[in-house]
Amino acid sequence: MPAYRGRFAPSPTGALHLGSAAAALFCAAAVRREGGTLVLRMEDIDRPRVVPGAAEAILDDLAWLGLRWDESAELGGPFAPYVQSERLALYEAAIDDLAARGLVYYCDCSRAEIARVASAPHAGEEGPRYPGTCRPFGMQQRDFRRPPAVRLAVPDDDRAIVTIHDRVLGTYTEHVGAVTGDFVLRRGDGVFAYQLAVVVDDLHMQITDVVRGADLASSSARQILLAKLLRGTPPTFAHVPLLVADDGSRLAKRDKLMALRDHRAAGSDPRALVRAIARAYGHDLGDTDAPLDALAETLDWSRLPRASVRVSAILAHA
Ligand code: GLU
Repeated sequence: MPAYRGRFAPSPTGALHLGSAAAALFCAAAVRREGGTLVLRMEDIDRPRVVPGAAEAILDDLAWLGLRWDESAELGGPFAPYVQSERLALYEAAIDDLAARGLVYYCDCSRAEIARVASAPHAGEEGPRYPGTCRPFGMQQRDFRRPPAVRLAVPDDDRAIVTIHDRVLGTYTEHVGAVTGDFVLRRGDGVFAYQLAVVVDDLHMQITDVVRGADLASSSARQILLAKLLRGTPPTFAHVPLLVADDGSRLAKRDKLMALRDHRAAGSDPRALVRAIARAYGHDLGDTDAPLDALAETLDWSRLPRASVRVSAILAHA
């Protein structure tokens, strides 16, 4: 068994909110329980979405919550750099590797079509599957109508049928070819897609376990497929349910007390907040002064709800 290596991979696109804090807590608790290594990776390749100062603010918030890393940009480590914008050569090499085996192709379909199958992790509905219009042309240079994206040619065989063993969501099977079709690995503007960067990084950093928000659960099958096509071992996933308003509607990050910094500014006790989050996610830690240790000791994935969690369940106890 490889040593347990977990990672938390925030995008510096805004303030850290309670939902991300919950994912980070369960990620850290699992690493602690397994005596593993906790990696902090900053996912900043989508430059237009990056907010100046957000990376530092996220790190401050996570530290306030009591989380400590073993490897990060600040601490260094064997798989540095830990910032995606400094790892572009690795993503390029992965595309070259896939290209050498005929597994990628240029696509100059219109921006609207590309946007529908866009790779941004939080783009919401991902739209219809790409019909494969440009697939027959492979990586051949032609008279492109616009700077072309690079898409993965999802194999037509059984490799496209992926079985996911999610510690929270259970085991299920997805046909990547049927669901998303050939997805983008590098956008026409040259930016590497989240789907590619996250897989290359998780393989290179030897991550064994990914704990993250359920908004990314729909990426699991694509990421497992891509990891295998890159001849790697995909990590095991655990998707932590999202937070919702009492009426079940989506929360906006600007909602009151959604951002961790609001709790800090209000003078809250971070330990109370950790206990409140754990409790809302099925782990009543009592009134312990060391809630992260207590969560590590009692962590039981089967106790996490599979459906969304009401944020009021946290705010009532924080
Ligand atoms: N950077 C992504 C985000 O902030 C998370 C990526 C992941 O955990 O796979 O949503």
